[in-house]
Order: sequence, then structure tokens, then C-alpha cells
Amino acid sequence: MERIPATSTTKATADWFTGDVYYDVIARGEEPSRIRVNTVRFTPGARTAWHHHACGQTLHVTDGVGLVVTADEVIVMRPGDTVWTPPGERHWHGAAPADFMTHLAMWEAPDPAAGLAETTWGDHVTDAEYDAAAASL
Ligand code: MN
Repeated sequence: MERIPATSTTKATADWFTGDVYYDVIARGEEPSRIRVNTVRFTPGARTAWHHHACGQTLHVTDGVGLVVTADEVIVMRPGDTVWTPPGERHWHGAAPADFMTHLAMWEAPDPAAGLAETTWGDHVTDAEYDAAAASL
């Protein structure tokens, strides 16, 4: 076995996130494992851009209040909640307007032979889209 040193916290890029978001890499599997686990911390109102994952993604909230949103559904996430987004399903996730939110993000990289991106990023979530989802709180 091997004790893995903690990595430093990284600020998520403004290319793919709105607001201040920080993540720590918890696990990054070496082939044949392709597991990916990050702790992601969102400040109030911060969120990802629209995106989808080639192999899907599991989100597990450890602190705060958050949102996971698809084109036709809003799920409010609280500590202990787990949400699965299937492969290819466009979505975004982030903190509620007046709360921090921390989640574990767990996904797999696709088989390199498949030639797919782990995560495919799209447009930023507009304030209007965010406000409409936050109305579910
Ligand atoms: Mn996602």
C-alpha cells in the first residue's frame, strides 16, 4: 500500500466555472483504474458551466446546500445526499445563493480507445438560468 500525500488546493478555472470554486484531487487512478475523485468547494452562488461526463458522475454532498440541474430537472442537495448524472446527460452543479457547498465528485475517465473526453464543457450558466434553478430552494 501507499500513503498518498495530499495535493494542494487548486482554484477552478473561470473557463468552466462561474464564481469562486476550489478543488482537491483525492484519487486519480492509474491504468487500468480510471477512477477520479475530487473534493470540490463552491462559494455561495458559484457553479460549474453546463457539461456532461463520458462515463457519468456521482456527486455526494458533505457540507452546505447545492443544486444539480439538467434541462428539465432541479435537485437540491444537502449533506448526505448523492446524485448520479448518467453518461452524456448535460447538467451543472453549484452552491445555493446564500450557502457554501462541498461535494465529492466521482467519475471515471473513458477507455482511451473510445477517444472520448472525460468531461465535455459547454456554455456558462447564466444568471437567469441560475436564478430559475435557485427558485426551487
Ligand atoms: Mn458534473
